[in-house]
Amino acid sequence: MKAVIFKQIGTIETVYRSKPEIQQPTDAIVKILHTSICGTDLHIMRGHVPTCTPGRILGHEGVGVIDALGPGVSNLKVGDHVLISCISGCGLCKHCRAGMPSHCLSGGWILGHTIDGTQAEYVRIPHAGSSLYPLPPSVDAQGAVALSDAFPTAYECAILPGKLKPGCTIAIVGAGPVGLAVLMLAKKLFSPRMILLVGKGQHRLNAAKGLGADHVLSSALGNDALTEMALAENNGDGFDLVVECVGIPQTFELCQKLLGLGGTITNVGVHGTKTDLHLQDLWAKNICITSRLVDTNTLNDLIGLVQSKMIDPELLISHRFKFSDITNAYELFNTGSSTNVLKVVISMD
Ligand SMILES: [Zn+2]
Ligand SMILES: [Zn+2]
Repeated sequence: MKAVIFKQIGTIETVYRSKPEIQQPTDAIVKILHTSICGTDLHIMRGHVPTCTPGRILGHEGVGVIDALGPGVSNLKVGDHVLISCISGCGLCKHCRAGMPSHCLSGGWILGHTIDGTQAEYVRIPHAGSSLYPLPPSVDAQGAVALSDAFPTAYECAILPGKLKPGCTIAIVGAGPVGLAVLMLAKKLFSPRMILLVGKGQHRLNAAKGLGADHVLSSALGNDALTEMALAENNGDGFDLVVECVGIPQTFELCQKLLGLGGTITNVGVHGTKTDLHLQDLWAKNICITSRLVDTNTLNDLIGLVQSKMIDPELLISHRFKFSDITNAYELFNTGSSTNVLKVVISMD
C-alpha cells in the first residue's frame, strides 16, 4: 500500500509499505477514504516531536471503512463507515476510566506518532471499540476529517472548560482551523454578545468574519495596540472567555491582558517554551485558567451537532487533494496563514 512517512527532519515521502495486520484482539484495520494534515504533522516534519522517529507513517485524522476486526471488538463490524479519533483509548485503564483517554496507559495520541498513522491506504487502529465512531450516512465523510481532532479540541479544550453563558463576550487568539472551530461552536451554541478574533493572515481573518466574528484584528499590530483596540470594542472591559490557540509566550501574554473580571482563559496552544504568568495582575480578578489535552469523549455529541446542522465541519475545508498529490497538500498546508489554506482533505485515488 502507499503511505506517507516522516523521512527525516524537513522531509516527508510517499513510500510502499505492506498492509497492516491485526496484532491484538482489540484492533481494527481501517481502509482509509479521506485523511487530512494537521499542524502536528508539520511539527513532526520540522523535528519538534522527538518521540516520532523517522520512517513513521504520519496522520491521526481520517474517515474510512472497517476492513478487518480483531475477535475482541464486539460493537463494530466489517464494512462500517467510521470516524477515526486522533486519540486511542483502551477504555479500561485508570486514566480512561477517569475520562482522560488522552492519557491512556496503552494509548493516547499514538497514531502517526509512536505507531503508524492514517496517511496511508490502510491503518491499524488499536482499542478500536472505543476509538472508532460509526459515521452516519447524513454526515459528509470529507468534512468529517475535521471531527477527528480539530472540532473535539475546540469543544473540549476551549468551549466546555470556558463556562460560557449566552450573551457573553469571547476573544479568540489564533485563526488556524482550531481557532475557527472554536468560533463556529461558540457562535452557534452560546449566542455570544460579541466575538473578537486576533489572528495572522488576511485570508484567515476574512474566513473568521465569514464564520460570524464581530471584530477581527491582525496579530501584526502587536500586543499593546491589540489590547487597546480589543478592549475598546468591549467598552473598555476584558472578555468573559479568552481562548489561546497559538502556543507562544506573546499570545499567552495577550490573553492575560484581554481577560475580564470573573473570566476564563482556556489554553489550547501547544507551548514549547516557558511563558510568564502575571499573577500580580490577575490574582484578585476571580479568574480561571485551564489547559488540557483533547480526549475526544465528545465525538458522539459533535456528530449529533453536525446532524442537527448546528455546525458544518466542511466550512473549515479549504482544499481537496488526491492521495497521489499529498506532497502538494503538505507544501500548501506548510504555507499556513500566508495563503488561504485551512483544513485540507486528502482522498484516496
Ligand atoms: Zn490533528
Ligand atoms: Zn486506557
